[in-house]
Amino acid sequence: MFTRMHSENVQALHLFADQASGLEAVIAIHSTRLGPALGGCRYQPYAAIDSAVADAVRLARGMSYKAALAGLEQGGGKAVIIRKPHVDNRAALFEAFGRCIESLRGGYITAVDSGTSNEDMDCIARETRFVTSTTQAGDPAPHTALGVLAGIRSAARERLGQSSLNGVRVMVQGLGNVGYALAQLLVAEGVEVLAADIDPGKVRLAVDELGVFPVALDAVYESPCDVFSPCGLGGVLNADAIGQLRCAAVAGSANNQLVDADAADLLDARGILYAPDYVINAGGLLYVALTYKGEPASNIAGRIDNIGSRLDSIFGQSVAEGRSPATIADRQAEEILYS
Ligand code: NAD
Repeated sequence: MFTRMHSENVQALHLFADQASGLEAVIAIHSTRLGPALGGCRYQPYAAIDSAVADAVRLARGMSYKAALAGLEQGGGKAVIIRKPHVDNRAALFEAFGRCIESLRGGYITAVDSGTSNEDMDCIARETRFVTSTTQAGDPAPHTALGVLAGIRSAARERLGQSSLNGVRVMVQGLGNVGYALAQLLVAEGVEVLAADIDPGKVRLAVDELGVFPVALDAVYESPCDVFSPCGLGGVLNADAIGQLRCAAVAGSANNQLVDADAADLLDARGILYAPDYVINAGGLLYVALTYKGEPASNIAGRIDNIGSRLDSIFGQSVAEGRSPATIADRQAEEILYS
């Protein structure tokens, strides 16, 4: 465990168990140097505690980098609750988790993530104030989509030399909470949107309501487009997928899009511009962090739109230094976190 903590530079790891509710949870705190660690809470099954710890530790580090480059006075953390085949009382489980968070006295603030809902956050909020994205605070996904839109504009400026998105063709992979909202925004800008989802119902809805062009799942990477926007699961950009891509840029919301560090170089070698995932998808984090601090909506919208200028600067430095945008983003985040 300590080896894993050292390799991700994680500051603290907390394990919690509550017999009455059956709770087993991990909270990893990567850094509190810029402020309290903020990051979502996952609720999913894990084969062993080791994989739950690995997930929490890896994701906590990503949150620190994301917050640093979004200009937030916030550290990075992540929680994982191990999902059992059966739970008697879901509300009691999340209330117990709320008491765990309270015991950290504000060092960690939680939020919605895979497998958790705004209603779960409401249960946590009965036990602690260190929780965001309750039903009252609202869904971060539309704000993530707004940040991705700003990022796609930046990529189009850099690679297509276009200030308007009118007539640009974007392939959206995954029409979930973020992907669907993004498709909506893109269509309103005059973008030709191609889209795919493993759920045919979501594709049908987007075709009927937004007029997107459906693409078969096995044709997603090879479909010619200007921007490929991964908004489904992470880990989609492996050597095989990158080899098939016929686009000028990759700019989407999914976390951990690159399967490994080599994937960034492969994209570079193919002349495909890559918008680093934790920079372009920070809109939701900005929304939850700034709403939690009571910032007015107009300030939050401006901060989300700044994702575009942050990417402009990363792309500019990438060209000047001949290094991938992913390398430049990591270096910028590390300068903020460790200088
Ligand atoms: P979601 O679960 O609502 O949607 C994901 C969608 O992708 C689903 O409709 C699913 O069917 C589809 N999908 C999964 N694999 C696919 C594949 N191989 N091909 C096509 N479609 C596929 O999730 P979301 O909240 O929309 O988030 C999307 C991505 O963005 C995730 O990777 C998430 O971690 C990341 N993200 C989300 C937010 C947010 O605010 N929700 C913030 C930052 C990052």
